[in-house]
Parts: sequence; structure tokens; C-alpha cells
Amino acid sequence: MTRQRQLIYNIIAAAPEHRTAEEIYDLARAEMPSLARGTVYRNLGLLVRDGEIRKLEMADAPARYDRERSPHPHLVCQVCGRVEDLPAPDGLMEGFAAARGVALTGYDLKLYHVCPACRGKRHGA
Ligand SMILES: [Zn+2]
Ligand SMILES: [Zn+2]
Repeated sequence: MTRQRQLIYNIIAAAPEHRTAEEIYDLARAEMPSLARGTVYRNLGLLVRDGEIRKLEMADAPARYDRERSPHPHLVCQVCGRVEDLPAPDGLMEGFAAARGVALTGYDLKLYHVCPACRGKRHGA
């Protein structure tokens, strides 16, 4: 693994935040000022391809990157786009699989809310 790739992986693995490529680029440049934006994007693609991180496609917003590779639901703030992991209720996959009699291999589930910080702003707090 190159130094650049290790650095990018470490940024994603170090925190539960699901960061965008631009956020990762800013953090990586703080460590390695010579790093080019294209290098960050290319390495993110390689890490996803090799299954070391997951790419989370967002509606009308930049994709985010996730260190947790097993399927889990996401809680998304519809105002600021912040993404958190949610624990899956027991039997979630089994329930859906039983409904159609199929063997599911994974899922991509996003649930939307307005996060506490955005709720505070909205009410002028
Ligand atoms: Zn928010
Ligand atoms: Zn996640």
C-alpha cells in the first residue's frame, strides 16, 4: 500500500463519520500538503474496489465513505447531509427475505431525519 493510500484509509478508519471525498482531501492535505486532489479520488476508488471501505451514494449530494463494510442502515440528516450508522433491528434481512422467498446478499437502507444541530438552527435556538 502506498503512503498516500494508507493515509486516506487511516482518515476513514479513524472516525465513525462518513466523510465526503472533499472532506477526506482536506484532512489528508493537512498531513501531506503535496497531495493532489486526483490522487485522493483515485485512491478512494481503489480502496472501494478492493473492499477495504464502502462508498455510500447519496441523493443530490457527494458520495460518502464508510469504514464499516457489513450492511447496516444509515440515518441521514436531510438538511446538512450528516450520516450516522444505525444498528439494524434483529431479523431485518430475514424479514425481507421471507417476504419474497429470496436469499438476500445485502441491502442499502437510508432513513432521513433533521439532526439536532439543524433542528436547533431551524427554531432559532
Ligand atoms: Zn443536520
Ligand atoms: Zn455506515
